[in-house]
Amino acid sequence: MVRFRRETVIGILLTSLPLLVAATGASLFFPGGGERLVTLFMINVIAVLGIGLYAGNSGIVSFGHVGFMAIGAYASGLLTINPIIEKTALPHLPEWLAGIGMPFLPALAVALLVVVAVAVLIGIPVARLGGSSASIATLGFLVIVHVVLVASSDFTRGSQTFFGIPRAVNLWLALPFAVAAIAIARIYRDSSAGLKLRASREDEIASIAVGVNVRLHRFIAWVIGAALAGTAGALLAHFLGAFSPKDFYFNLTFVLLAMLILGGITTVSGAVGGTAVIMVIVELLRKLEGGADFGVFSLPTVFGLTDIGIGVAILVVMYRLQDGLFGVRELDERLPWLKGFEARTSRLDSDGSGTPVTTAGTLRIENLGKSFSGLVALEKADFEITPGLVIGLIGPNGAGKSTLINSVSGVVPPSTGRVMIDGMDVASLPVHAVPVAGLARTFQNIRLFRNLTVLENVTVAASAFKREADPRERARRVLAEVGLEKFSDRLAGTLSYGAQRRLEIARALALEPRYLLLDEPAAGMNPAETQELMHVLDRIRTKYRLGLLVVEHDLKLIMRLCDRVVVLNKGQQIAIGSPAEVQSDPAVIEAYIGRRRTPKPAQPGPLEAAGLNPGAAGLHNPT
Ligand code: ADP
Ligand code: MG
Repeated sequence: MVRFRRETVIGILLTSLPLLVAATGASLFFPGGGERLVTLFMINVIAVLGIGLYAGNSGIVSFGHVGFMAIGAYASGLLTINPIIEKTALPHLPEWLAGIGMPFLPALAVALLVVVAVAVLIGIPVARLGGSSASIATLGFLVIVHVVLVASSDFTRGSQTFFGIPRAVNLWLALPFAVAAIAIARIYRDSSAGLKLRASREDEIASIAVGVNVRLHRFIAWVIGAALAGTAGALLAHFLGAFSPKDFYFNLTFVLLAMLILGGITTVSGAVGGTAVIMVIVELLRKLEGGADFGVFSLPTVFGLTDIGIGVAILVVMYRLQDGLFGVRELDERLPWLKGFEARTSRLDSDGSGTPVTTAGTLRIENLGKSFSGLVALEKADFEITPGLVIGLIGPNGAGKSTLINSVSGVVPPSTGRVMIDGMDVASLPVHAVPVAGLARTFQNIRLFRNLTVLENVTVAASAFKREADPRERARRVLAEVGLEKFSDRLAGTLSYGAQRRLEIARALALEPRYLLLDEPAAGMNPAETQELMHVLDRIRTKYRLGLLVVEHDLKLIMRLCDRVVVLNKGQQIAIGSPAEVQSDPAVIEAYIGRRRTPKPAQPGPLEAAGLNPGAAGLHNPT
């Protein structure tokens, strides 16, 4: 039932093509040595894609996938070794294993079951980790696998060579596996699950705020990646015929990671390209390593020349191109002529096509407080957000406005009080489920998925629910709503500042929230951009009957836009009421001007005197 997008299919074909060409070329012109090399290339591609599927999409470098290669190699090898050879090579093998002499493919299937079982077990704790702690955990896994293999000498001959494996793998068997690996990696990358994981790589907090279950998606990618690596291991075992545990250890990990990083860790084309480049470098240097005679001058034997060569290649590429040779976008995503294939979907008019959410209900903030190791950032905030109304949240810097939004949206768990949506306590939900319950937000410091396209940024949010067949369609509608549809294919990080702010709002809107919390949406915008933003906000709140909470320093804007205003000062909620009431509240004026009783001669309003946005009107002269 899975429908593949045309881009995905084109990408798979385009990335597989070099493999097909290499295989044909090798078997026609270089049978023997060339064929062997290209077969190894295919196997390496599968392994690199396995690492990349997890590492590239999650942003967590994995040292552990070579461990899965080892498990795949030994498990499949044990199943295919001829029982007669086994008697001499592994005399202590238990009865039930000793008699098996399976063909390669069923052995591969069984070995993959073993690999996946281990991946699931290890994946549960590893998926809870992020960043370098996750990387270290994967390194630990690699070491453990190695030690276990060496120690289980009854099964593996310990550190000695494990031999007698039928050489069942040749070029034409490896090729379809490599193409399948490319397809799996690309389909995953383009899938909703892959997109969500890539979003979490760009910004974990923002991804959770649009409903991404980061642990789940890390786990899925870990297991699929392990299965690919296990396949590569089994293929390698049946290509070489003999190997030992050290063949699946740091050296191989280093080479495979070099391939991935050199090509570009985040793309399938990068994995394939990087594998090719490193293999060429290794082949050339290996020839030189034993010394070479060029007639005029000769090179001495240089030990470790290939490793040095790989290291230098990585340094050079990283110095020039941080994202690797192929960058952060797939090859086909940058070819403009391929874009023509994509059905230019209707620029749906925003009328009637969106589903205005009209469910009644309120978001109650009850006695909410938050302290950071003694520092009370927020205390006893207590008010409601009602669909269709705009609440302004104002207060001097450090008053606790962002803390309030963070506590309400679950990013920072509140210390006291609670947040109720329709009588349901938000704290009872996992953080990534809060947006699905109807609450969306933006961040004071823009948190976009910078290396994803504008459309992908919004699509992540639009696919928080299962209910729409094509979340991209809804994402396009939302982009049109904020006037960003013409930038759909741009990387989010390349947008202008004002456009980035609008994109963050679009991303939040794609969640179809009932309550939308905006933390300084107009900060850093010029007056024209601010005007435009106000129009957008005004339109969406009536159309979708949104309950809006807006933090803003521009008081003129707050007074015009808001139905009610909440004032915070030093973590305390010091006033709440209509804009007019709040403006004349002595406590508010006091909070803003502090102890400075005499404004400067130029007659700035008291709020300006308190260092607020100079574009804003003072409390006494709103317009
Ligand atoms: P506002 O958004 O109104 O400018 P904030 O909510 O960002 O204010 O900050 C309120 C207070 O809480 C400040 O004193 C700030 O230093 C403190 N604070 C905010 N976040 C943290 C944090 N993660 N750890 C420690 N202190 C924090
Ligand atoms: Mg703030």
